[in-house]
Amino acid sequence: MKERRYDLYGDVKCRMCLEENEDDDHIIYCQQLRDKWLMVVNNTMHKCDQMLKDLLSQEKYLQLNQEDTQLLLLWNRNFFSHTIDPNQELPIPFVHLMLKIFFPKEKYREIKLIFKSEKATLTITTLFLEIFINEFYKIIWQSHCNLITEWERTKGIKKQDLRKKIPAHQHITYERTLTQQIEGDTYDLKGRKILKHSEQWSIALGKTRQYIDQLIREGNRRVVKAHTKAI
Ligand SMILES: [Zn+2]
Repeated sequence: MKERRYDLYGDVKCRMCLEENEDDDHIIYCQQLRDKWLMVVNNTMHKCDQMLKDLLSQEKYLQLNQEDTQLLLLWNRNFFSHTIDPNQELPIPFVHLMLKIFFPKEKYREIKLIFKSEKATLTITTLFLEIFINEFYKIIWQSHCNLITEWERTKGIKKQDLRKKIPAHQHITYERTLTQQIEGDTYDLKGRKILKHSEQWSIALGKTRQYIDQLIREGNRRVVKAHTKAI
């Protein structure tokens, strides 16, 4: 479901547990999703294990010695290690961040210590996030959307109701922004740094400054020329 229509749905209980009101965070707390969440993190771990092995054998700039390779694979295996504990409460740590495409800082630092390279670290964190998000979509989000559609059908909410225009303030969108936040900077999933508002301004101001400097220099030259001619 891309957007929530409060004019049609009102205050709705979660379709899975039928107990809690469904808000933005409920999907990571819902006890009915516990097994699915465990599946998401298990799949992520296994797929990342393979991804790391492939990268290390294929990419020239991602070379590690035996010892560091073991550290890296251990880092991946321990990422969600708490899930081994059967009494672990939801939400699973970091998932609230990773759903918003934020990579946890302490985990980022751990890989950077292994690779000692920003580029290598960004590559790993980006692929890790992509795998996690794909598993989340496949295992949780899609079936969640199907449940909602089914519920809409039983409530007689039809496609044409959903298509009706509504005031902008009633829109609540689920946006999937393909960026990740590391050390206060934001990167897109290709590892390109996204400039903050203030940084964009300083670049814009820098350009204006160059332009004005040039104008003054040329202006001076013209004045000097005119002056020399007059003499
Ligand atoms: Zn629930």
